[in-house]
Order: sequence, then structure tokens, then C-alpha cells
Amino acid sequence: MKQTDVLILGGLSGISAGMSCRKFYPDKKVTLIRKEGTVLIPCGIPYIYGTVGGPENNVIPDGLLEKNGIELIKGEATGVDRTGKIVTMADGEKIKYEKLIFATGSLPMVPPIPGVEKKNVYTVKKDFSYLGEIYEALKSVKDLVIVGGGFIGIEFADECRKGRDINITVVEALPHCLQAAMDDEFCTEAEEKLAETGVKIMKNSQVKAILGDDKVTGVRLVGGDEIKADMVILAIGAVPNTALAKQAGLQLGFKDSIKTNRYMQTYTDPDVFACGDCSEKHGFFSGTSMPAMLASIATSEARIAGSNLYSPIHQNFGTISVFSTMINGRAFAVAGLTERTARSRNMNIVIGTAEAPDTHPGGMPDSSKTKVKLVFAKGTGILLGGSISGGRSVGEMINVIGACIMHQMTAYDIFQFQMGTHPALTSSPIMYPIVNAAQAVITPAL
Ligand SMILES: Cc1cc2nc3c(=O)[nH]c(=O)nc-3n(C[C@H](O)[C@H](O)[C@H](O)COP(=O)(O)OP(=O)(O)OC[C@H]3O[C@@H](n4cnc5c(N)ncnc54)[C@H](O)[C@@H]3O)c2cc1C
Repeated sequence: MKQTDVLILGGLSGISAGMSCRKFYPDKKVTLIRKEGTVLIPCGIPYIYGTVGGPENNVIPDGLLEKNGIELIKGEATGVDRTGKIVTMADGEKIKYEKLIFATGSLPMVPPIPGVEKKNVYTVKKDFSYLGEIYEALKSVKDLVIVGGGFIGIEFADECRKGRDINITVVEALPHCLQAAMDDEFCTEAEEKLAETGVKIMKNSQVKAILGDDKVTGVRLVGGDEIKADMVILAIGAVPNTALAKQAGLQLGFKDSIKTNRYMQTYTDPDVFACGDCSEKHGFFSGTSMPAMLASIATSEARIAGSNLYSPIHQNFGTISVFSTMINGRAFAVAGLTERTARSRNMNIVIGTAEAPDTHPGGMPDSSKTKVKLVFAKGTGILLGGSISGGRSVGEMINVIGACIMHQMTAYDIFQFQMGTHPALTSSPIMYPIVNAAQAVITPAL
């Protein structure tokens, strides 16, 4: 029987957990089991259909594992015997472990709509050949309907239009696209940017049935309207992939995700850890379970899990949800709580906003106006969340906000920041929008 010290089941967060384990415990033998032959950069999946041009241009090289001394076994783990500490593979091979990490991720949610099984109806699976099939099929598609206006649906719409003569309609059940992630003013701005490309957005609309005989020909909405379609992409969310964890007898929690403590150790077995989309998330502020599936969270949890395997010491203090997206050249990003979420929890908050070009002067080439909105707790001034729209710099600015939230900084702390600036790279030091949004809420009463 094959033996290893640490056995990891997974892809993206599995790699992070393995690298972290090798860093903290260089003497341990680490083995990663992965179902797929080739693992994709999951966040890059929409870009396969436009910017990067094909799934082969969006892969995580296996050399990363080799470089970090992690052995890779390609295949599916189908059984876990926690008493004997043995994992069984689909081909019957058995592997004995000391410590096991579940990083089995998530699977796309399939809505209970009649017709989902028809030809040319796809979900967003993180599967190289399946996504390659969509890439080939798209070549002859004239009318694409995307069900779901979250960030994955919107990114697909924006990418699929590139270089194609195609009609694209996004059908969203809520009053706004991206509503689960952003406040209304940012949702509206994002919808306007997408609409500029010719993509049609139908809000407050739900697909009731997928039409056609063998192959899809359209969708019918609740209310009876029909939209022509020769391809449908279902992008309505994902569920934790935890059937094997359940079979292994691990305690599951919110939406069947694996329950762990702050060390990412499962509730059930101190030698079994879990991280990423398959593990339960708890809000950074509320501590309550929440649905959040992001690479930012998955890889942080993975680093914590890998470092704790033989000495549980590093803690996961909860999910901040740092997220960004790009729509028709404009970036949108959120970290922590939006105003909508804070108000829905009856939190007593103050809002600071600021706008500035991301170069100085604003007339520099490729300058974009950056809009920042910060949510602070009234009284203490602790930062609860931030939202930004603007140019490419937004992707890193939101990480600054995420770090401020994690360290419970106040408006006054941010007001004192010494921001590095440069005319071609940032806003002006007197207009820096994160600092000025914090300054906007500072009053003698705070
Ligand atoms: C289209 C798309 C775009 C996204 N964009 C972003 C983004 O821009 N930013 C962001 O932060 N997040 C983004 N996300 C979310 C992010 O991709 C996920 O949060 C992240 O992939 C989670 O990583 P994970 O390792 O937990 O799970 P996964 O990436 O799902 O990996 C799980 C791996 O485990 C393997 N596995 C499962 N069961 C077994 C088994 N029994 N045996 C062997 N192997 C097994 C799977 O095959 C898979 O390789 C996006 C997701 C999608 C689908």
C-alpha cells in the first residue's frame, strides 16, 4: 500500500494547502490527489471564451507541485476509512495517510427547470474538456442565453461577445445583476457598462422552462415570454462538493459544507482538515455561517490548514469576502459589508464616499475615475466594508481595504495613511479616494 504523511484531495486550495504544509513541515511527504488531468485557473474560466482564447491558455502548471516537492496522483478518491487512515481510489489503489485535507471544492448548481438536460445547455464546471466543448459549440451559436446575473454570468456575457457575431441575453431573477455582492449604485453602473456592449439584460425575470426537442431552441420565462436560444449557460451558483466527506462520516453544516474549527480542523476528526469551497464559512463580523465561494477565501483557509497540520496554532478569523470583477473595461470590487447588508442587520453605520481620477492629472492616458464607498460603524469608526469602481488599480485597492477590515482599522487610522502616489499610477495624494472617503466621516463626535 502506498504511504504518505499528508494527503490532500483537491485542486486550487489543495495546491495552496500543500505548499503551506511543505513550508511549515519540510520533512513531511505531501501527496495531492486530483480528479482532473489538467487543472484550470478557476477564476480565469470566463476569459477562455474571449480574452485568452481557449482552455489550454488558462491552466495551473503542474510544475508548481513538483517545484514544491508535492507528489501528484491523477485520479478520483472514492472512499475514506478514517479509522485505518486509508483513502481508496476509483481504480482500487489504497493510500495510507497521517493527516488528510479535504479541498474538494464545489459543483455548479443545476436549477430544477424542465429541459436542463437538452443539448447545448451547459453549467460552469471547472472541467477542462467540458469547457473546451463549450468553446467549440460557441463557434456556431447565434443566440446565447445566460441564466444568472452574478459575477460569473456577467463575466461570461462580457467575454462570449468578444470576436463573435452573437446575441446575448442575461436573465436575472433579482431587481439587479450582481445584487448579492454590491450596492445598487454599483450594480446600476455595472449593468450600464454591460449594456453598452449590446448584451441584453432582463431583470426581475426567471426562466421557467428550457425549450426544444433534443437541442435547446429557447427559454420560456415565468409570465410566458420566450427568448430564442441555441445555447444556454446556467450560472446560478455552486454547492459544496461534500458527498465523499459525508460518506467519511464528517459533520456537515450550512448547505452541506464541512464543519471546521478556526484551525480548519474538522469538528469530527482532528487529523482531517478542510478548506476552500467545500468548508463552512463564517462571517468576519457576525460569526454566523454564510454562503461565500471565492478563491481569496479558499487559498487563505488552505494556507491556514496546511500550516496547522501538526501544530494547530494559526486561526481563521472569518470570511471578509474580498471580490473583484471587470465589465467592459471597468472594474468593480467589494470587501466586507455593503451598505445594504449592514442596514439589513440594523447596524448603526456611517458612509464615506470619494471620487478621483486614478492618475494625476486626470488627463493622463488611460485614466479612469475611481469611486470609493466605505462603510464604518458609527461611534467606533471601525471599517466594516468598502466598494470601489474604476480602472485596473481597483483590483489592488480592494485588497488594501480587505487588510484594513481584517485589522479592524478605523476611519481615523485610514485618514492618517501615507499613500504612495505617482502621476501615472495613482490618484493624487490630496485626492486619494480611500483616504478621502475616510476623512469624509471624521467628525469630532466619532
Ligand atoms: C467561472 C468562475 C469564475 C470565478 N472567478 C473568481 C474570481 O475572479 N475571484 C475569486 O476569488 N473567485 C472566483 N471564483 C471562485 C473560485 O474559483 C473558487 O472559490 C475556488 O476555485 C475554490 O477553490 P477550491 O480549491 O476550494 O475548489 P475547486 O476549485 O472547486 O477545486 C476542487 C478540486 O477538487 C477535485 N476533487 C473533488 N473531489 C475529488 C475527489 N473525490 N478526488 C480527487 N479530486 C477531487 C476537483 O476535481 C477539483 O479539481 C470563480 C469561480 C468560477 C466557477
